[in-house]
Amino acid sequence: MVTDDLHEVLRRGLEAVRAAVDLASLDEARARFLGRGDGELTLMRRRIGTIADPDAKRQYGLSVNEACRRLEEDVEARRAQLERERQEVAVAAEALDLTWPAPPLRRGHLHPVTRMTREIRRVFTQLGYLTLSGPEVEYDRYNFTLVNMPPGHPSRDTQDTFYIDDSRLLRTQTSPVQIRALVALGAPLRVIVPGKVFRRDNDPTHSPVFHQVEGLLVDEGVTAGDLKGTLEFFARSIFGAERAIRLRPHNFSFTEPSLELDVSCMVCEGKGCRLCKHSGWIEVLGSGMVHPDVLRNGGVDPEHYTGFAFGFGIERAAQLAYGIDDVRVLYENDVRLVGQG
Ligand SMILES: [Zn+2]
Repeated sequence: MVTDDLHEVLRRGLEAVRAAVDLASLDEARARFLGRGDGELTLMRRRIGTIADPDAKRQYGLSVNEACRRLEEDVEARRAQLERERQEVAVAAEALDLTWPAPPLRRGHLHPVTRMTREIRRVFTQLGYLTLSGPEVEYDRYNFTLVNMPPGHPSRDTQDTFYIDDSRLLRTQTSPVQIRALVALGAPLRVIVPGKVFRRDNDPTHSPVFHQVEGLLVDEGVTAGDLKGTLEFFARSIFGAERAIRLRPHNFSFTEPSLELDVSCMVCEGKGCRLCKHSGWIEVLGSGMVHPDVLRNGGVDPEHYTGFAFGFGIERAAQLAYGIDDVRVLYENDVRLVGQG
């Protein structure tokens, strides 16, 4: 019976559609049963013309068309379902899982020299000092002669200098900016000058480039007492409120009298240790009352104004304040140094 055959083909067709696992196998199943040339149901539809009895022909035609419609419906339903599943898989693959732990954030810190420079600047800004900078390529005249180190002066020998030509050099100290500041701004004046200086030492404990800060205060009636009070405030702000200080006579070319500042040892509290060479004191900076000739070289009348100056190495201050044993680690570019906070 042809109708039994039709039911059997439709049953297999529906099963093939249900079994399709993706769009490709679904298309293949559809072609097998509904394909225009040789689909099984297509071939059965062609039999309509071979049936002679009009009633039987009509009945069979309705059944075939119904079977084709039913299978076509199932194909489209299955297609929609497979499409939905494919999208769900794609969305799941692209989705962000916001509960997944994030990689740790690496936190950086300022380099100790930068940090110390900022602390020094903060201390002196509180005391009303301006922060200035000056040229790193400097005239011999400003670097030496005008700060009382004329040609042949013994202090010149202690500062192995990078000369560019007969009159220009890489500055060996920040002192030339004192002269420039006096000339440009006149008295009264309060400035600090942090910056790079250059010397031809490059042994294990010296770097050819390092940082100094120079301070200068010029006003009417300035005394060594003002200098002492200023240095005490500085030392306690940077090295701790419990620090004691002492000033020792010394000799610098551009100050008269000259004084060295010692701070009580931050490691042994004065009992004596390796850092302070068992003296209980650590030498921190050089200072003194500005030499009248230096004031004159800056265009300031030493009969009317007096002043004091001080200078020190920023690397050394950072070493003492932050407990860094070896100055060389400051320039080894080891990122762990700035990771320590
Ligand atoms: Zn000590």
